[in-house]
Amino acid sequence: MREVVLGYDVGGTKILAVVGDTNGVVYSKIEKKTIKHLGRERLVQQLYEIGEEALKTADKKISKIGIIFAGLIDQTTGTVITSPNIPSADGLKICELLTAHFKAPSYIENDATAAAIAEKMFGVAKNADDFIYIPLSTGIGSGIFVNGRVLRGAHGLAGELGHTVIQIHGPQCTCGREGCFEALASGSAIARYAAENIDDLIHNGGRMHEKERIDARAVFNLYMQGNRTAAEIVSHVVEVIAVGIVNIACILDPEMIILGGGLSRAGDEFIENIRKAVKKEFKTMKRDLKIVRATTDITELSPLALIGYQSSFE
Ligand SMILES: [Zn+2]
Repeated sequence: MREVVLGYDVGGTKILAVVGDTNGVVYSKIEKKTIKHLGRERLVQQLYEIGEEALKTADKKISKIGIIFAGLIDQTTGTVITSPNIPSADGLKICELLTAHFKAPSYIENDATAAAIAEKMFGVAKNADDFIYIPLSTGIGSGIFVNGRVLRGAHGLAGELGHTVIQIHGPQCTCGREGCFEALASGSAIARYAAENIDDLIHNGGRMHEKERIDARAVFNLYMQGNRTAAEIVSHVVEVIAVGIVNIACILDPEMIILGGGLSRAGDEFIENIRKAVKKEFKTMKRDLKIVRATTDITELSPLALIGYQSSFE
């Protein structure tokens, strides 16, 4: 059954409000910069305002609210546990507030799981029952489908792929462990490698713009220009990503890995190199594992997909 949904995608940089239906038809959408440093009340006010604006433009009556939140969330209570990028949202009972304000039941999901659901409902995973969505971004996470259902785990915390250790006694991770996947191959890890090798990076080819920040994007730009140090960093990252993928593939045996996040847009060669490295890393455990890039522009459909998935499967 088609349902009309008010959806939110709340991230550290921007908030998207969308009104659409569970078939993926968008009636209206509004995007604003996240007001995150003015306290909780102002953040909640912004959620109300942007939702009201989207509803007014769409001129539709909604039956449910779907919220995607970048952070650790408790799905059963509809609460944000912690959000590294929006500190004022810690402990926020976001579902309760939005349900009371808009008079419609609300559901929340973290961004990696929501992206996996969107790929299942509207994207590359439409016909897949066992697949893993891996956002390669400032951090690394995962959204996992097993037998056509989201894998949640006993505490709703399944899929913390970024915090599986790849290098024992490796670099310190934000989670407290050492040598995590995320500490070795995320956007912030690439920025750290760049800082550690800054002199070589500057002198080994390619051009850096004077005011350019040495972040993952800058490293990939230099890599495209043939910088040797950047190429070494990228090839190390490819190797780590391959090990991370093979580790989770050994446990869950998915048919498809979907790579999302900023790093997944680093060019076809990068994705192709990951495919090759994964194939090699499987060694004797050969299998046919598809590695594909996430569907572009699916973000605005994620809150609609979330409600559609819940109505049909949960
Ligand atoms: Zn970690």
